[in-house]
Amino acid sequence: MSKIVLKNVLVEIDGDEMTRVIWQMIKEKLLFPYIDLNLEYYDLHVKNRDNTDDQVTTDCANAIIKHGVGVKCATITPDADRVKEYSLKKAWRSPNGTIRAILDGTVFRTPVMVNNIPPAVLSWKKPITIARHAFGDIYKATESLVKGPAKVELTITDANGVHSHVINEFKGDGIVLGMFNTDKSIRSYAKACIKYAISEKIELWFGAKDTIAKVYDGRFRDIFMEEVEEARAELDAAGVNFRYLLIDDAVAQIMKHPGGVLWACKNYDGDVFSDMVAAGFGSLGMMTSVLVSPDGKFEYEAAHGTVRRHYMEHLKGNATSTNSVASIFAWTGAIRKRGELDGVKDAVDFANKLEASVIECIESGIMTKDLVFLAQPKPEKHVNTAEFLGAVAGKLAEKLNN
Ligand code: NAP
Ligand code: MG
Repeated sequence: MSKIVLKNVLVEIDGDEMTRVIWQMIKEKLLFPYIDLNLEYYDLHVKNRDNTDDQVTTDCANAIIKHGVGVKCATITPDADRVKEYSLKKAWRSPNGTIRAILDGTVFRTPVMVNNIPPAVLSWKKPITIARHAFGDIYKATESLVKGPAKVELTITDANGVHSHVINEFKGDGIVLGMFNTDKSIRSYAKACIKYAISEKIELWFGAKDTIAKVYDGRFRDIFMEEVEEARAELDAAGVNFRYLLIDDAVAQIMKHPGGVLWACKNYDGDVFSDMVAAGFGSLGMMTSVLVSPDGKFEYEAAHGTVRRHYMEHLKGNATSTNSVASIFAWTGAIRKRGELDGVKDAVDFANKLEASVIECIESGIMTKDLVFLAQPKPEKHVNTAEFLGAVAGKLAEKLNN
């Protein structure tokens, strides 16, 4: 079989610790033998970010803007302990935060489903994707204790003068919080959600609480609706249905829903419900993530971190049983998207076959330790990191030779 060749550049972003070890194994065992990926490589190993004063993070984000598709390994966000351990100049910012800001992107998380790991919610037959609007609201709020008696007001100074609203006349002590969002950020978010729903051809929900926060959440609803109207023809062509729901209605309905839906959430709702949905589907090792910009640039990754505890075992020379599924699906997501954009059907077929190989392995009872306790029936033993990838490689070779 001759190698498949990707026409245009795929931006590869390497990372840290156990996921960096797995990353290399995936490339060597599952990708390089079959496909010429036309990679542009950026090394976000924490030491290289430090050596370049984090310039490499900005560079890789700009490369995604230029080429349209990237794939990223998990990276350390350094805290005081990592600064000491790696002798860093400072605790550099989260690379994901930097890349997200440059792409003005939204993160979509989707679980990989297999039929021997039943979700906690029985009606969930297909994946539920959660999008979180990761800007503003309580995450950028100003808050204060209030020593009563006190009058607290909201004051807006604009071109037309000063406008004040009394929030509360406190008789005793209390608390106050002022939060905001911007039309621009909400609009970018709505556009990214619409792009993603069209790309995946799945139903799109947006939930908020506009019955209570008539102005604040009402503005979210209105902007979302405007963007949906703007994209109406594209949504219809892709068969994507849009629903606006009250957030409590969305929560009630999702528990009876078969899945196959993109649930777009405001910031706090996304924070809370992404953890609920992730836990409901099983292991972090099976949760994929993609960052989508409003103009349709895609960066694929695993939702989990660098799995540091396992890396410490690996450094001692012990075999680990680390789940590589989300990292493999980051690669297949990126390869499929590159293939679709460039009209390279073989690349799309390859991504599908690699995903099918992973799923067949797990469904035949070959799985890492994190899945053993979730699987029904429970397999007698688990495999280690390398054994799992070896089994996937075997299945993939069979499929590609047929
Ligand atoms: P983590 O790497 O996600 O791992 C937390 C625990 O979850 C692991 O110790 C392991 O549990 C389990 N786990 C996660 N992924 C797994 C997998 N693929 N296979 C098997 N088990 C898995 O989170 P963390 O330990 O809190 O963070 C480590 C580093 O990752 C930090 O430096 C953090 O900043 C970074 N991080 C990066 C990203 C990113 O780049 N996208 C995201 C989150 C965190 P057991 O120990 O019980 O086996
Ligand atoms: Mg959370």
